[in-house]
Amino acid sequence: MIKEIDYTFCPHCGSKFIKIPPNLLQCTHCDLQFYINPKPTTAMLLINPQDEILFVVRKNDPKKGMLDLPGGFVDINETLEEGMVREIQEELGIRISINALTYLGSTVDEYSYGNIDGRTINAMYRAELSANASIVPADDVEDFLFIAPNNIPYDKLAFQGMKDFLKKYYPRD
Ligand SMILES: [Zn+2]
Repeated sequence: MIKEIDYTFCPHCGSKFIKIPPNLLQCTHCDLQFYINPKPTTAMLLINPQDEILFVVRKNDPKKGMLDLPGGFVDINETLEEGMVREIQEELGIRISINALTYLGSTVDEYSYGNIDGRTINAMYRAELSANASIVPADDVEDFLFIAPNNIPYDKLAFQGMKDFLKKYYPRD
């Protein structure tokens, strides 16, 4: 379980923060109020003609070696859709049109890296993958594989929010 608030000092004046749970930091000197909010991310259910889901193997920490859906953090000035399309291009070397995206819903998660714990809010999209798509894993993706919905190895998935989403999206009898 992550700690709710990690930051100790005010980014404006450098004085100490008072922590007001669950997510407010109040400066003791300049009265800056600093709210901790989730970072936006995107992820994609990329489905091949056999109705299998593309999973990627994470190359880096956190959760190195575990399975994930392609996607990542949204950049400054990007829309969610632009971030989604860019991540797919960077990680898999394929171009998905924004018009081909279907928005499925959102998930929340914890993301710890270094000594900082954070939270994410993730927009989940779906797109169909053509049979002749030429995928080249790159960036922070080590490898990829296709898995049928009934065979998703939930214990190997990197993030809890994604597990919860997939279990709802593909209910098992
Ligand atoms: Zn301050």
